[in-house]
Parts: sequence; structure tokens; C-alpha cells
Amino acid sequence: MNGHNLKISWVAAIVLLTIACQDKEVLKKEEDQKILPKMSLSSKNLLMSSIAESYTLPSKANIGNNKVKVYMAEYLTNGKNGAAGNIIYFNDRGNKHLDADFVPTLSLDVSKDISYAVDMSRPSSSLNVQVTEKAIDRAMQTWDHVKCSDLRIKKIQSSTTSTGLIPLIYGYGGSSGYVADINHGGFLPARFFDLIAPNGGNFILAVTFTIVFSDQFGNPLDSDHDNKADVAWREIYYNNSLNWNDGSDYDVESIALHESGHGLSQAHFGKAFRSGNGKLHFAPKAVMNAAYSGVQTEISKTDLGGHCSIWGSWPKN
Ligand SMILES: [Zn+2]
Repeated sequence: MNGHNLKISWVAAIVLLTIACQDKEVLKKEEDQKILPKMSLSSKNLLMSSIAESYTLPSKANIGNNKVKVYMAEYLTNGKNGAAGNIIYFNDRGNKHLDADFVPTLSLDVSKDISYAVDMSRPSSSLNVQVTEKAIDRAMQTWDHVKCSDLRIKKIQSSTTSTGLIPLIYGYGGSSGYVADINHGGFLPARFFDLIAPNGGNFILAVTFTIVFSDQFGNPLDSDHDNKADVAWREIYYNNSLNWNDGSDYDVESIALHESGHGLSQAHFGKAFRSGNGKLHFAPKAVMNAAYSGVQTEISKTDLGGHCSIWGSWPKN
């Protein structure tokens, strides 16, 4: 539904080669600045080029060659400037982009249950960390209680050391290893979201990154031949520069429910239209609309349809 795919330019491909020669785990901000003006790249292209390569999992995961790659990012906006959320693909191999879903036989925690974790090491500046964690727990439980699916969502002990491949790449701490199927990686500063879209720090609320298994050449695996890339895990980040709340704007539970929807392989949907003041509205209104439009902690009928089509026969599919 989000057909606007952003492509890596040839220039970015050259930068990719340059960056590939460096140790990506120590890619420093100074290097970003050096490359950025010289190559006249947008921050978007820099983001894409520097993570469009494969990473080897630190521990023996025993899945293929243990390689994963960052596949796509889906972001949610506040809808105020008329910009809806979008999807960015990091794997630019032609115009065809596969969806991505979990495969029961390729689980890094060797469990068909869906696991999640909440990284407490990157708390919100505006909301108590325990209140935040409880709100995320409620969002996960809401998806778990959906009747058409049997996900048996379970929580992995909250981490006190920082997690996540994406922040590791950008110098916000983290780890390249697997934490949980869905990792709520905490709150990152506005400038992180500027990398996702120009001035993104001003209007992006949160983002979900999809990390997939890849072959030795960096192609996403599709081991069950369902025309969907095989998800290794997903990482969710919230914009710390915004004012977060529990039960009012910006409501953590509502936005965690949306991001967890991506965590569970759902895409955005709903037709966007603008009201007189330029604010975005959606029809039908749903958790998975591409912009936030107020507190919404219950799953709509259309959300359910999408969810059940993906998860209805899990873990048999
Ligand atoms: Zn979204």
C-alpha cells in the first residue's frame, strides 16, 4: 500500500562500497559528516547505503549461514504537516519488494511462540520508564488476545544494557545479536529520525525496522517460498523529542500497538485525506493507519482482517 519506494542512487552505491571497507560497528558521526557534503547525499541515502549490507550473527544460530540484513523500515507520523508514514526498503534489487514474515522453522530462540522485549536502557524523557513498559505490555497483550491467532506472546526479561542492531550502526549503543522476535528498543533522539526522513525528528513518532535472514550474497531468504522474506527479528524505536503520555497524546500504548502491528508483519492501510487545517485523517480508521490520530488501544475490524490473514494458521504455515 505504500508504493513510494526510495531507491539507492548509484552515488550511494559507491558510498556503500566505501563504508563496506570500514568497520561498520565503529562508523562514527565524523565520518558521516565527511561523506555527506562531499557526495551531496541526503541523509536518507546515507542511512540506506550504510545498512544495506549483511551482518553475521555473533552466536551460532544454526540458520543458514547466520547472516541477517536490515530489510525495511516502516514509520508512523503525527500527521500534522500532512505527511503520512511510509516504508523504506534497504534492499534495492529491482522494483519488486517482497513483504516479510516470520517462519516457524527459522526461529532464533527456537520457539514458535512470539517473544518480545522492552529495552529499559533508553527511557523516554517525558514518561516514567515503568509506566512506559506497562503500556507496551498492554499493547502486546492486545495482539496476543486476538482470537484468530495463537501467538502465545511471551516477554523476555527487560534489558538494562542497550540492545538493537540499528542503534549500534548509528552510534547509539546496542548489540548485533538477537534479543527477541520483537524488540521495543526504547527512545532515541530526534536526529536519529532525521536519518529516516528530512526533518523526521519533528513529525515521526516511531519506526519499526525489519531484519531478515540473508544468503551469502546479501539476498533475503525465502525458505518457505511464500514470496515473503524470512524475518529474523524486528526493532522498534520511539522518538524521544516528543511528549509521551499514558492515556493522552502521544499515547505510548496506542503507538506501541501500531508498531507491534508492524512487528507482527502488518503493513499500513487506510485511505488518507486532509481536513481544512491540513491534518491527516484516515478511512477506515484503524490502528494500522499511517499517521497517529489520537488514543486508540483497541484493534479495529480491518486491523483484525490483516492480522488474521497473516497469523490465522500459525505455526503450521
Ligand atoms: Zn507504521
